Amino acid sequence: MMSRARILLLNAALGPLDYRVPHGMTVEPGSIVEVPLGPRLLPGVVWEPERMPSDAEVGDNRLRNIVSVYKLPPLGTALRRLIEWTGNYYLAPPAAVLRMALASASALDDERTIVEYRLSGETPERLTALRQQGLERIGERQGLVRELATIAGVSDGVIRGLIKIGAIEAVLVHVDDPFPVPDAAFDPPELTPSQQEASAKLVGDVDAHAFAPTLLDGVTGSGKTEVYFEAIAAALNAGRQTLVLLPEIALTEPFLRRFEARFGCLPVAWHSGLRQSQRRRAWRAISSGEAMVTVGARSALFLPYAKLGLIVVDEAHETSFKQEDGVHYHARDVAVMRGRFEDCPVILASATPAIETRQQVALGNYAELKLPGRYGAAELPEIIAINLLTDPPPRGRWLAPTLVQAMAETLERKEQVLLFLNRRGYAPLTLCRHCGHRFQCPNCTAWMVEHRLAGRLQCHHCGHNMPPPQACPECGEVDSLVAVGPGVERIADEARELFPEAKVAIVTSDTLWSPAKAAEFVARMEASEIDIVIGTQLVTKGYHFPNLTLVGVIDADLGLQGGDLRAAERSFQQIAQVAGRAGRGEKPGRVFVQTHKPDAPVIEALVSGDAEAFYAAETEARADANAPPFGRLAAIIVSSEDQREAQAVAKAIGNAAPRVEGMEVFGPAPAPLAMLRGRHRQRLLVHARRALDVQDVIRDWLRGVDVPRGARVAVDVDPYSF
Ligand code: ADP
Ligand code: ZN
Repeated sequence: MMSRARILLLNAALGPLDYRVPHGMTVEPGSIVEVPLGPRLLPGVVWEPERMPSDAEVGDNRLRNIVSVYKLPPLGTALRRLIEWTGNYYLAPPAAVLRMALASASALDDERTIVEYRLSGETPERLTALRQQGLERIGERQGLVRELATIAGVSDGVIRGLIKIGAIEAVLVHVDDPFPVPDAAFDPPELTPSQQEASAKLVGDVDAHAFAPTLLDGVTGSGKTEVYFEAIAAALNAGRQTLVLLPEIALTEPFLRRFEARFGCLPVAWHSGLRQSQRRRAWRAISSGEAMVTVGARSALFLPYAKLGLIVVDEAHETSFKQEDGVHYHARDVAVMRGRFEDCPVILASATPAIETRQQVALGNYAELKLPGRYGAAELPEIIAINLLTDPPPRGRWLAPTLVQAMAETLERKEQVLLFLNRRGYAPLTLCRHCGHRFQCPNCTAWMVEHRLAGRLQCHHCGHNMPPPQACPECGEVDSLVAVGPGVERIADEARELFPEAKVAIVTSDTLWSPAKAAEFVARMEASEIDIVIGTQLVTKGYHFPNLTLVGVIDADLGLQGGDLRAAERSFQQIAQVAGRAGRGEKPGRVFVQTHKPDAPVIEALVSGDAEAFYAAETEARADANAPPFGRLAAIIVSSEDQREAQAVAKAIGNAAPRVEGMEVFGPAPAPLAMLRGRHRQRLLVHARRALDVQDVIRDWLRGVDVPRGARVAVDVDPYSF
């Protein structure tokens, strides 16, 4: 009989605490309970005491009682081990990881219904401007008062006012409505021999129900999705759940439609855009084992699947799998660990695998399956470099004559064009032509970016924005501001000027911020309501538009700037992915890459199609520098609103650095974003050999340093941006 239980609380500030199990109550490791903390009640999870030291040992007679046990399945052993591992590896409080597993305390709530609101259809006359705006923006949508207020950009009070006058009505939503079960035999494709071979191996892994990580490496359009769908079918047949991770919620939409065509119904979607009622319904169905296939962004990784049988990470090379705030984890790597704890296969699908992943294959830790060519009649597009030095665009323009010519030919044939530039807005920099003043964010080390469509200057880091001023704030000169460099909006202007008949669409996170918007975009592309798409990295992946035959990369050199360790690799992946959007149907595709450095290794590899040579050179360079994946890196970031405090704490950490064989410490120095959201940032970079338990060293090291209240110390293990 357990009369005392160690509870990991849903509160990042605290480690686990002990509580008494009152008479008549039974709990086991993983039970979700409610316990008192000070005057409040908090959810928590029962943990094995020997696996987690308590923050405060309390005598038996001073223990407080567990208040209640939720009527929910206990968190499984595999998930509890994953939470511990993630906390240890990424040096994060386990309670912060637990928070991702429980999604939000509201998921635990036992209510079967939630009251939501929507427009009643009655529009009272004479509304205030805000109420009018509320009604217009809500449209077809439904949600809690707070959710509607956010959608409409008004206060809760405005929504309540609209409820009072009858323009918005209440609806009861059942959060235990069942999800449909995907049908493995609904509409399976006929696989090609090489697809067949790959799928047989994956199906075998699923049936074996054992840990088996596999890189599914096939060029864009080779049918990777069709192949891993067979593995999902096998998991369905075995009665086990699948989790599919996608790098962006904008990609969920095309995925959902393909899934529906193959399995006859939609999977359960999990992402940050869900309403509270949808979140609770999905969470409960996942933890009961009723939700057979879940597709989600990285946060879906920590959910309490009752009987997980397969994990797929699609576009596994994507950097958006790396979480940059809160717990700094890499979803691709945590997915593999989850597979290990759950004893299930993990498929990493990519046309341009990360060097880390290829290294795991080389070491024999991951299996590799290759799909050599595109499916059907589709051929890989030809990639042609445009040398901007010899074939430049006219002054103040960004599209070179060769590209413009190709666009004209493509539009003439009624085919579609995609122009790729990874820069939102109109221009990345605005300055005063009179005095040279540059508009900088007051909170960040970053330029304010002009968004002409929205009529604002915006900081892409903190969201700070303002209308472009009439006069320069520095010298007072009127109408002296000039836009420097191109963003997608500026390229769109140029395209419209060149091809006035063409229908031009801009696709960035500003325009494609929800799955519904993504669906609308796909529909418009398929209906040929768009001739030219101009987009950021958001359009480089996942989409399949058979009539899109020309891709133009506006500035292939952009990704090579910054001196980041992964710059060349990322640039190669991004351009290969965007090129992969061209010629996916029966019509052949062409890709023009504008560059000032046509003989840079990245460009040469793309043009020659020799990815292996590029990867080999890049891997060798990493090995020589003992950089990841050969050596290890960790960044220690100190931040404070007070610059001197940030510097002092970073210096103290630097002075306390232990001398450890095989480890070097660089810095402190200002972090690449020296100021972010009003906080000054200093960074120390730890470089260690692979075999060193660098987490252990850092944990001990930081324990000995006093951090004043205003300062924060965050550790980023395997950092991406540094
Ligand atoms: P990838 O994920 O490797 O980019 P997809 O799975 O998207 O490739 O396949 C590209 C296109 O070819 C899709 O439209 C897909 O439906 C089609 N396709 C691939 N394999 C088959 C097959 N065996 N039978 C029918 N269509 C297929
Ligand atoms: Zn800012």
